[in-house]
Amino acid sequence: MQQSIHAKKRIALVAHDNKKKDLLEWARFNRGSLSIHSLYATGTTGSLLEETLALPVTKFRSGPLGGDQQIGAKIAEGEIDFIIFFWDPLEPQPHDPDVKALLRIAVVWNIPVACNRATADFLISSPLMASDYERMVPDFKEHQERFKA
Ligand code: PGA
Repeated sequence: MQQSIHAKKRIALVAHDNKKKDLLEWARFNRGSLSIHSLYATGTTGSLLEETLALPVTKFRSGPLGGDQQIGAKIAEGEIDFIIFFWDPLEPQPHDPDVKALLRIAVVWNIPVACNRATADFLISSPLMASDYERMVPDFKEHQERFKA
């Protein structure tokens, strides 16, 4: 199965506290590219992005208060196309299970994820960012029907 991803993509951005400066610098540099897409973010990251970019951002709860899970739910519903997730590899997070869950559900649904600036640079400069894209959606029929007679 495939999902047609429009040129205007729904991008979720999340940065842990020690990575927020990095994400804001990256977003400022790429403001022009980001401005053609719809932006979503966890609460604090989203407020900072709105201030920095002067672009509208749909904000969920703060990450530790459920925001990561809200983004995960949107992915499962096919409503997020792309994640920029600058998680902190050097500091334990109170919501570590949510971080793992978000990374996991993105892989389940074949969603591109950038976890650091270099990957984000490569992804944002891909020609696929500005064009329509047919994303392969894994076929979970066997899993869904495993208890059917
Ligand atoms: P925040 O959440 O943007 O509300 O700080 C980010 C996170 O820690 O997941």
